[in-house]
Amino acid sequence: MDSYACIMCFRCQEVCPAYTTGKVLSPAALEINKRYHFNGGGTTDVAMTELISEEAVWACTSCGACVDICPVGNEPMRDILDIRRNLSMMESAFPKQLETAFKGMERNMNPWNISQGDRMKWAEGMSVPTIEQNAEPEILWWVGCAPATDSRAQKTAQAFAKILNTAGVNYAVLGKNEACTGDSARRAGREDIFFGLASQNVEILNEVAPKRIVTTCPHCLHTIKNEYPAFGGNYQVIHHTQLINELVGAGKIQLSVSGEQLSVTFHDPCYLGRHNKEVDAPRSALHATGALTIEMPRNGAKSFCCGAGGAQMWKEEEEGSARVNATRFAEAKSTLESAGPSAGADMVAVGCPFCLTMMTDAAKDGGSEIQIKDVAEIVAERLK
Ligand code: SF4
Ligand code: SF4
Repeated sequence: MDSYACIMCFRCQEVCPAYTTGKVLSPAALEINKRYHFNGGGTTDVAMTELISEEAVWACTSCGACVDICPVGNEPMRDILDIRRNLSMMESAFPKQLETAFKGMERNMNPWNISQGDRMKWAEGMSVPTIEQNAEPEILWWVGCAPATDSRAQKTAQAFAKILNTAGVNYAVLGKNEACTGDSARRAGREDIFFGLASQNVEILNEVAPKRIVTTCPHCLHTIKNEYPAFGGNYQVIHHTQLINELVGAGKIQLSVSGEQLSVTFHDPCYLGRHNKEVDAPRSALHATGALTIEMPRNGAKSFCCGAGGAQMWKEEEEGSARVNATRFAEAKSTLESAGPSAGADMVAVGCPFCLTMMTDAAKDGGSEIQIKDVAEIVAERLK
């Protein structure tokens, strides 16, 4: 139906981060190739790779831009993820670099393959209550694998803990009982791994019965909020920037706005701004710090991907004319530069640990002085 609904406007192709950085993937071509196939007498019983190359299938970042922009409601991304499922599950045909992340999720319940025993190491020296220590919290903080185990993203977790503790929030984390949500496994077609992790997480969450869940990763937010209901898990889930706003609004944290003037452009994570339509909370939190915020041309629900979603975080990027993260960082840099010389530091703010890694790498590769920080870090540095 999608293939016959397609009006060949190519809008999906124009916004696709893979296509626009020279990869072989075109979401429009997929729909059009399907139509040729059916017009030629083909049936739905077809190896989808006859309509799209494997290289193209693995170039998708699952950013959702093609779905968001299509005027007739087509969903090329969903086709691509279904094709990945077939390749990964039925043919074991997936980029070999993904094996490490798959093994990590299977053996140690996180794609970084860090022992579960080390999952609370980020909180050493801090007061962060686990669910065993605080069985009835007002809010359950789902830390996420990246903030719990990645050395750079751990700073986001530490900053958010500082904010919660300063505000006196009654919260708890699952600690060693928290496993990967399975986001990357599902996006890479490994439904078996996703099924195992989702089932286990829902069982634990239903036992805890949290009133609300706050996540420090939009991928965790998306998966728990939108995909766990199919596993019997129905929860209220918010992003950490939403909770920060609540705390500022309720006067539970006060921020010093008299420090160094920051010129900040916020890079919306696809899984927050587009997939979950939350674009205001990170900006409000940044405004509360007194930062001067400047918008990139592609922002909010129309943001451009950092390049890490859809399990790209765990594999090399396909051949193209540019890297997705470098393309996005260049947009951020020129936005900050076009605002003229700033009184203080230039910064790209993020709200996702994957974006944090991708933007940090792009800044480093480009020899740029621009700092990359999570909104929680910027807020925590301004706590009175
Ligand atoms: S989800 Fe994003 S990367 Fe994938 S085909 Fe659509 S626009 Fe391209
Ligand atoms: S945006 Fe929709 S209608 Fe336009 S080419 Fe893409 S799939 Fe077809």
